[in-house]
Amino acid sequence: MSDLVSDVVVVGAGMAGASVAAELASRVSVVLVEAEYSPAVHSTGRSAAAFLPSYGGAVVRALTAASRSLYDARSVEYGTELLRSRPLIWVATDPESLRALAHAAKADRELVQLTSAETVAWCPALRADRIIEGALDSAAMDIDVAGLHGTYLGEFKRRNGNLLLDAPVRHVERTGREWRVTAGTQVISCGQVVNAAGAWADEVAKLAGVPTLGLQPKVRSAFVSPTAFSGEISDWPMIFDILERWYFKPEATLILGSPADETDTAPGDARPDELAVARALESINDITTLGLRSVRRAWAGLRSFVADRAPVVGSWAGHEGFHFVAGQGGYGIQMAPALAAIAADAVLEGELSARTAAYGATLDALGPGRLGRA
Ligand SMILES: Cc1cc2nc3c(=O)[nH]c(=O)nc-3n(C[C@H](O)[C@H](O)[C@H](O)COP(=O)(O)OP(=O)(O)OC[C@H]3O[C@@H](n4cnc5c(N)ncnc54)[C@H](O)[C@@H]3O)c2cc1C
Repeated sequence: MSDLVSDVVVVGAGMAGASVAAELASRVSVVLVEAEYSPAVHSTGRSAAAFLPSYGGAVVRALTAASRSLYDARSVEYGTELLRSRPLIWVATDPESLRALAHAAKADRELVQLTSAETVAWCPALRADRIIEGALDSAAMDIDVAGLHGTYLGEFKRRNGNLLLDAPVRHVERTGREWRVTAGTQVISCGQVVNAAGAWADEVAKLAGVPTLGLQPKVRSAFVSPTAFSGEISDWPMIFDILERWYFKPEATLILGSPADETDTAPGDARPDELAVARALESINDITTLGLRSVRRAWAGLRSFVADRAPVVGSWAGHEGFHFVAGQGGYGIQMAPALAAIAADAVLEGELSARTAAYGATLDALGPGRLGRA
């Protein structure tokens, strides 16, 4: 065992940990510790890479909207296009989903209602007789997830951040005003710990003797499949069932689809639910002429939620110095830039700056205290 000293230790080098660590490293010394041999092998490496402003609850939408200009600024700074336009169409295929679509369109004035024919004009593989209506979110995008994660890790290293891979945190101890974090073969003394361990965030909290969040990891499966549809598909929008029973979008010449499953599980290396994938193929084939017959590759990852499905940034009262950045659910990539900037202010200042206060979420709305379970 060897000893390191830093101001902050960030646990987990997925999108949450990498982005927060980069933000923090511009102001203090940071060690970022990751259990795996390479970062982003869990949820971050398994996403559908979509930026969907009309997806999620109010806090998620505010943070996604605030992230948009941060993505643009990073794209310019790093000379790489981190977002690329891919409109989203929510669709209704039965009376129940038609009611949900009407409700969504009423609640979100940015959505543009489409007739069946207009929806099919956007995606000619949809069957006009199966689509009742659509709602267009023209601000939706594809995300270069590896690119975004890479810009944060690169920034972190340039700011003299220390990334330790193959360094699972197994012991976290409070001694006076200091924390001692045992990660792999290193013991790190630090003033503050940031728990960005994704589905494992409650496990890491337990190691530190800190109350848990009641975080529930849920499996979501995804697949890519060749299509029998002839013709160019690459500029089609993403098509999402408004009741979240399936979605699909083009992935180069293939179709990326998902049964949008949400099965409770324990933290771990998630495996795709083959039955759910088969059901999604059936549902998508039922409303399209895509003719999806085989699965080229299927995978799954964990989307972890607390009770209100909004992210958690902050510490429990009485446990200051141990901060959560967790519970990003199915939105952890799209809202990462704003969430990371807010988290850095929460950790270092205990309050939002003028810049992060404008992102539309308060520390009261994000903190674990709102969950009322300490
Ligand atoms: C199929 C699927 C599709 C999705 N699609 C989208 C999408 O289109 N858009 C979007 O915004 N979001 C999407 N998401 C959600 C998004 O992927 C997650 O919200 C995001 O990746 C969470 O990032 P994270 O860093 O918190 O978690 P992770 O990427 O899982 O990172 C947590 C890290 O912590 C490490 N760790 C855990 N315990 C320890 C320990 N004790 N010591 C050290 N390290 C530890 C893990 O090894 C892991 O690398 C999707 C998710 C799935 C599964």
